[in-house]
Amino acid sequence: MTAASTPAASIAQLKANGAATVLGTVVNPAGLTQAKMVPIGRIHAFAAPGLGASPVWHGFAIDQTGVVKTDSVGVVGDQRVRIDLTALHGIGDGLVWAPGEFFDQDGTRIPMCSRGTLARVQTRLAEAGLTAFVGHELEFVLVGPDGARLPTHLWSQYGLAGVLEHEGFVHDVMAAAAVAGVDIEQFHPEYGQNQFEISLRPQSPVPAADHLMLLRIIVSRVARRFGLRVSLSPVPFAGGVGSGAHQHFSLFKDAQPVFSGGSGPYGLTDEGQHAIAGLLAGLPDAQGILAGSILSGMRMQPGQWAGAFVCWGAENREAAVRLLVGGPANPHGANVEVKPIDPAANIYLASAAILGLALNGIERKAGLGPETTIDPALQTKAVRKKAGTVQLPERQADVIDTLESSTLMRDLLGEDVVDMSVAVRRHEIHHYGALAPDELADRFRLAWSL
Ligand code: GLU
Ligand code: MG
Repeated sequence: MTAASTPAASIAQLKANGAATVLGTVVNPAGLTQAKMVPIGRIHAFAAPGLGASPVWHGFAIDQTGVVKTDSVGVVGDQRVRIDLTALHGIGDGLVWAPGEFFDQDGTRIPMCSRGTLARVQTRLAEAGLTAFVGHELEFVLVGPDGARLPTHLWSQYGLAGVLEHEGFVHDVMAAAAVAGVDIEQFHPEYGQNQFEISLRPQSPVPAADHLMLLRIIVSRVARRFGLRVSLSPVPFAGGVGSGAHQHFSLFKDAQPVFSGGSGPYGLTDEGQHAIAGLLAGLPDAQGILAGSILSGMRMQPGQWAGAFVCWGAENREAAVRLLVGGPANPHGANVEVKPIDPAANIYLASAAILGLALNGIERKAGLGPETTIDPALQTKAVRKKAGTVQLPERQADVIDTLESSTLMRDLLGEDVVDMSVAVRRHEIHHYGALAPDELADRFRLAWSL
């Protein structure tokens, strides 16, 4: 159930429906979801002053034990996780979920907080007269409780057989999402074996990311009822199909769309072109935020629909930025889809990075290069070079070095976020960089699972 008109009304309604436990979650720079709970009677304490958390929460690594420290994050200090009472969701079985944010003990927001970082970018957009809507996609693979591959005798790419094999799961996810107030736009079996995708209704950036977070919880809870787990790894099985976390977004200036109604290609306005140009120019810098994990480079390959080539094109599924032209087929209007993002990313930071880059392009009136109308892998290197199309690196050490030295990302996301993102990913590279692809995929198949 979604929040009623005020927090008080929504809490009263949730209590009347049997809510007993309040679950608040935050996401760290390694993409791990962390949680605290209180009985419903203490919900206000969870909102303010919040519940204590060590600063090292930001530095927990994906290997279940590692903790990474930086200049600003160590074992001394105490932060507060506060839930947002305007974003409560009853999710059944007496559980209420709310997104959390990090504050200092004195009530000041912490720059490292990823939800707060996205909110800051949203404010910067508003100051420039821009409103953004974000539509998230969630791709995941169903696996056994130990991460084992499920039987695939009845599976074909996007095939009905996969739906019927997992009909109970599909049904229960739809029902649970409806109860929680998460609006599913579509749900389908994917290319990979036992892989599914769910797309969410576009909405304002912060609630859009919240709802994706909640959807990850919902699919994971439902899978457990069937004795399954949800792999949110970018590469669940080495050599197989990867999982992306594409984000679509649209921008409005003074209530007018910037990706349609203009005089540029496909009706792009000048600002729409600047936004796409800014995004493309900054993608290599942002790659460490969008697809920075030790597994992410194995997905970032041509031919995977992962957007390995930094170019744009209408309905081009191999371009990092795919333009969906407004019209009868796209009832929400024109939007752009950013493909390199994968589910190991912190989704709040990924949104903050792409929206911040679009804003940066608008602010500096970045010029948009030519459209790529074919699979860029089929172009010669010379043609790609002429169009300014670069290929995103597969080597994570290079990706993270670029992030570390990016003043653009430091300006958009803040020093603390970039330093910790670099540190947790370097931990992965340092400890696991020598593993073979199949060992890596096995080791981290459930690392981001809930
Ligand atoms: N699985 C692909 C990826 O890793 C995306 C496939 C699709 O576009 O649906 O990004
Ligand atoms: Mg897909």
